[in-house]
Amino acid sequence: MSLPEGWEMVVGLEVHTELLTRTKLFCGCANAFGAEPNTQTCPVCLGLPGSLPVLNRRAVELAMAIGLALHATVSPSTFHRKNYFYPDMPKDFQISQYDRPINAGGYLDLPDGSRVGIERAHLEEDTGKSTHLGGSGRIHGAERSLVDYNRSGVPLVEIVSAPDIRSAAQARAYAAELRGILIATGASDGRMEEGSMRIDANVSVHRVGEPFGTRCEMKNLNSLRSLQRAIDYEAERQYALVASGGVVRQETRHWDEDRGVTSTMRSKEEADDYRYFQEPDLVDLAPEASWVEAVRAGLGPMPAERRARLAALLAEPTEAQLDAVGTVVDLGVDGFVEAAVAAGVEADRAIARAANELAGDPEERPGLTGESFAATLRLEQTGDLSATQAKTVLSTIALSGGDPATVARELGFERMAADELEGLLERLIAEHPDEWRRYDEGDDKLAQFFTGQVMRATRGQADGKVVLDLLRARRG
Ligand code: ADP
Ligand code: MG
Ligand code: ZN
Repeated sequence: MSLPEGWEMVVGLEVHTELLTRTKLFCGCANAFGAEPNTQTCPVCLGLPGSLPVLNRRAVELAMAIGLALHATVSPSTFHRKNYFYPDMPKDFQISQYDRPINAGGYLDLPDGSRVGIERAHLEEDTGKSTHLGGSGRIHGAERSLVDYNRSGVPLVEIVSAPDIRSAAQARAYAAELRGILIATGASDGRMEEGSMRIDANVSVHRVGEPFGTRCEMKNLNSLRSLQRAIDYEAERQYALVASGGVVRQETRHWDEDRGVTSTMRSKEEADDYRYFQEPDLVDLAPEASWVEAVRAGLGPMPAERRARLAALLAEPTEAQLDAVGTVVDLGVDGFVEAAVAAGVEADRAIARAANELAGDPEERPGLTGESFAATLRLEQTGDLSATQAKTVLSTIALSGGDPATVARELGFERMAADELEGLLERLIAEHPDEWRRYDEGDDKLAQFFTGQVMRATRGQADGKVVLDLLRARRG
């Protein structure tokens, strides 16, 4: 999608990420996805009168890690109550941070070289989760609504970008890079489908050089694909509105994934007044400098650095190879590539196989180690296994473990290697018609010539006896 010449979209993203703590932000209830509804609650996260919050130290640490990874400044911060009514929020307020966030002013560099400013990354608690049955799945028109408070009080960090993004593709790249950073800090598992990373997109359009237009905020963007589609749709809608003499009203809009459209949820006029005030049950949070520095020192390499490290293994990387490097880092399987390269596998092969064969949940390949990955690729490199065979060996080991050479034998890949030998022989015969004619007419000495050629081509991996058998079988 592109707006007409002279127009551009302006996008700012608000990303909520759940933190990978063992317990919730202000109580000892488990922070775990997927449990029976309402089994992980207590008076604190149910908001019962008289209960008091106690701040989770690990959540503060992870929030600082996110801020530091985004080049933000960790500052003394204050918790506020954000007051509003919704059934999934039993206290009728959410504890959040307002004008004094824990992290302020950072940036994120994208793979294309562009930089997006980070306004803030603050701590807050999650709400419960409601499910509306009957009707459209939204509360209006629902026959009944269910609420699960397991999520209530789960620690969140909200990362607010500056309005620096200028296309839907850039917004997607930002979200993808941020997701990688969140995973790299250990703060989040980045699982959008489980709601552990949730994105709201603010979109406006304007004529380049003129002030920004009025923005609309879109909710319910559950995947990177939805994010990109919703932004494109919304920018186009706003442009069409403005071009036909209308005005954009500031509002919150709902993205309908099935229909591919956004629609009004609530306008600015009906927006809540959150009546923020300082949380009286919590003191200010002022991490000591030594603690901040310890968190900084504990940060591992971020995705950009890891991509650079892998790319440096390739002589003159092509676009496709760089894509594969990006995939390897997204999948978090850099270690497999490094193990393979250390074992003498060509970097190109190691990166390509890791990108293609190690997708999906690591829990689905319990049997695969860096060592067996490396050993399989070695077998492929020496010609013992074809590419297809190597992939089969990898997927077999992934499930049940084992030694690659043994697994290959068990899979009967020697016989298939003979098939390949046959193909090779065919090529060699075509390349050496004179030698073949002499052999074919009875000169047995030429058998040695062909065997030598095969050995050279397979770097000594072929079975000489098998080659002889094949030669004899081909004789007229
Ligand atoms: P609010 O508290 O109303 O959500 P914020 O200042 O937190 O307002 O901004 C929310 C998001 O909106 C930020 O990500 C910011 O970059 C983005 N934003 C602000 N102005 C615009 C605009 N004119 N067009 C698009 N996005 C904008
Ligand atoms: Mg906001
Ligand atoms: Zn609790």
